[in-house]
Amino acid sequence: MSEYDAVIVGAGPNGLAAAVHLTRSGRRVLVVEQADTIGGGTRTEELTLPGFWHDVCSAIHPLGIASPFFREVGLDVEWVHPEIPVSHPLGDGRPAGLKRDLEESALSFGSDGQRYRRVIGPLVERADEIIDSFLGPLQMVPRNPASFARLATRGALPASTIINRFTTDEARGVLAGMAAHAIAPFGSPLTGGVALLFAVTAHAYGWPMVKGGSRGIAEALAAVIVAGGGAIETGRLVTSIDELPSAEVVLLDVMPESAVEIGGDRVMSRYRRRSSGRKRGPAVFKIDWALDGPIPWTDELSPLAGTVHLGGTYEEVMAAEDEVHAGRHPSRPFVLLAQQSKFDPTRAPEGKHTAWAYSHVPGGSDRDMTEPIEAQVERFAPGFRDLILDRHTMNAAALEAHNPNYVGGDIAGGGFGVKKVFQFGSIGPYKIGDGIYLCSSSTPPGAGVHGMCGYYAAKAAIGA
Ligand SMILES: Cc1cc2nc3c(=O)[nH]c(=O)nc-3n(C[C@H](O)[C@H](O)[C@H](O)COP(=O)(O)OP(=O)(O)OC[C@H]3O[C@@H](n4cnc5c(N)ncnc54)[C@H](O)[C@@H]3O)c2cc1C
Repeated sequence: MSEYDAVIVGAGPNGLAAAVHLTRSGRRVLVVEQADTIGGGTRTEELTLPGFWHDVCSAIHPLGIASPFFREVGLDVEWVHPEIPVSHPLGDGRPAGLKRDLEESALSFGSDGQRYRRVIGPLVERADEIIDSFLGPLQMVPRNPASFARLATRGALPASTIINRFTTDEARGVLAGMAAHAIAPFGSPLTGGVALLFAVTAHAYGWPMVKGGSRGIAEALAAVIVAGGGAIETGRLVTSIDELPSAEVVLLDVMPESAVEIGGDRVMSRYRRRSSGRKRGPAVFKIDWALDGPIPWTDELSPLAGTVHLGGTYEEVMAAEDEVHAGRHPSRPFVLLAQQSKFDPTRAPEGKHTAWAYSHVPGGSDRDMTEPIEAQVERFAPGFRDLILDRHTMNAAALEAHNPNYVGGDIAGGGFGVKKVFQFGSIGPYKIGDGIYLCSSSTPPGAGVHGMCGYYAAKAAIGA
């Protein structure tokens, strides 16, 4: 008899979600993690000064609060909702953004209001079904074909096609910020779906952060595993499946290249061929700041927003992202910024603040993007630089050193697109060998903290 029913390598949100499902199904489970702490992309540390708590990777969780699996488990975290989910200042104090209320957002888009209502309204009404379909593995028949089709008819389009139907800088800029989450050129198929999905989540669920930091998600999942009799071991890098205690199944929360190494001969040759020479997505450059006060935004919406998209008009955001996809570093990058301490006082000492930001850069980049990123913040919040008490930066190499899953600084598990979604279709996206399953964000439904890759891989592993 095997020592465990299942061993899971990697304690990121997907590895932990897999372990939760297996534990709840009565299986004997061991999770093995190479770092000294669990969490993968959900870690929170004092990266700068004592008392300043920074989300090392993920910070904002529209997919987490919407995740069907997290909702089923009843994830024990306190979601903190900022007054508005996201702002997208256009410069010279011109505000734009998405409020929770669809109607208020539509009104703020002036002559584009009616179109926004028409495109987003029906999707928001069926948000749960849409999320269910979108966060399901696409190889299978969607559980709600009608809702899926509703999203799919527009979602299959490139973001540029959808955005070009709008005429105001406000609507176009906001949708460009949503589309940039796909980390793919705006002319690529399916990027329209990502833009629509993120807009829908803003209205239907909000874009919350976790009180105390994203590590709360990992801790909540770990608590379920331990309560169910599972074990978690940290500080142990796994290089081969032979190092692991005996188990009926092994689930790997790692990238496909590592999975091939770890699984060795037990990995199917078809999978091995498909994984070799796999294209990586672009990387990110990340900064965390300890600040002497709140960021002095010139527009009226950004002080109320948990997330601020900095890049200006649609044309500017697209130009910056196009530079990255052409292998260059934009001089005015598109910056995704979160200001957690404004809404969660546990993150910084009284009167002080934290901020978190990243911009996309070419894969493998070793460029220090501190100056262009801070210049973008300063453009929309003059005086920002004077508030900086300390900063912590991570380029692509530092990200990979922090977590081997960020190969070349790619945080999206191998980029985005039709190819990724279907690339492992013919051998099943999760099973890669006899008793071996991949459960990381390299499998559908892909990147983000939602645990769905782990959940579906675990279901595939035990057939339930
Ligand atoms: C800067 C940044 C910002 C992000 N922002 C957001 C955000 O705001 N919202 C959002 O939803 N998502 C965000 N993401 C993406 C999100 O963090 C990831 O999509 C998610 O963490 C993927 O989960 P995972 O479990 O598949 O992998 P990971 O979280 O990468 O976890 C994998 C784990 O496996 C471990 N591991 C790998 N190889 C081995 C091995 N050989 N032996 C033992 N252990 C191993 C790693 O150490 C790691 O702990 C962000 C990511 C980054 C880097």
